[in-house]
Amino acid sequence: MLRVFCDFDGTAASDDVGEQLFRTSAGGKAVEIVQRYFRGEINARQCLQEECAAVESLSPEEFERFIEQFALDPYFDEFIRFCESREIPVVILSDGLDFYVGRILRRHGVEHLPFFANHVEFVREDSRTKLVPSFPFTDSECDLCANCKRNHLLILSGDDDLIVYVGDGISDRCPIRYADIVFAKKRLIKYCQEQNISYHAFVHFGDVRHRLDQILQRKRVKKRREAVMARREVFMQG
Ligand SMILES: [Mg+2]
Repeated sequence: MLRVFCDFDGTAASDDVGEQLFRTSAGGKAVEIVQRYFRGEINARQCLQEECAAVESLSPEEFERFIEQFALDPYFDEFIRFCESREIPVVILSDGLDFYVGRILRRHGVEHLPFFANHVEFVREDSRTKLVPSFPFTDSECDLCANCKRNHLLILSGDDDLIVYVGDGISDRCPIRYADIVFAKKRLIKYCQEQNISYHAFVHFGDVRHRLDQILQRKRVKKRREAVMARREVFMQG
């Protein structure tokens, strides 16, 4: 069975909502924090914690209003209908915040899609409302990402599954090593090329649907050998 895992920011959602959020509400400080993350000086969890701390004040109502401007990929719901008609489960994996992932999915009528993201609480401090993130899905050994996408992918899939991953950024680098079919755009393309990971480049979900349709018409779809080995390795380690 085919099983699709999909990144949110810049993939299911056309824009990187998290990046825009912090750039808008924490300004230059956020840019500096993200640059330290890109240079590998801080991990994703520290990055989110520092970004949230850098936001002076943001109430849930202000946050709601802010995310109204963001939309999903124009072909995303068509892609979801395609997957549903073929009984292909789709799960969203995000290293962003659950507050906006859930709301943007709901606004587009796809709130039934399961998603995993980091959690955010709003904490009143005098006249301000602070964002306080928490991380329910970290990995006990690897702290590269805040929400460990690899673990979701492995837990939710079985031996017979053919794993499809769709993504664009840094938090997708790890999970694509375990996926049989990789769809990449933007920065993730360069990473696949450098790491010799075979991938399908895509611009929007119309491309993903079209290519998956072609793949499904083949008599037999082979798993990616390196991905099978990588998955086996994790299970051997217990
Ligand atoms: Mg992304």
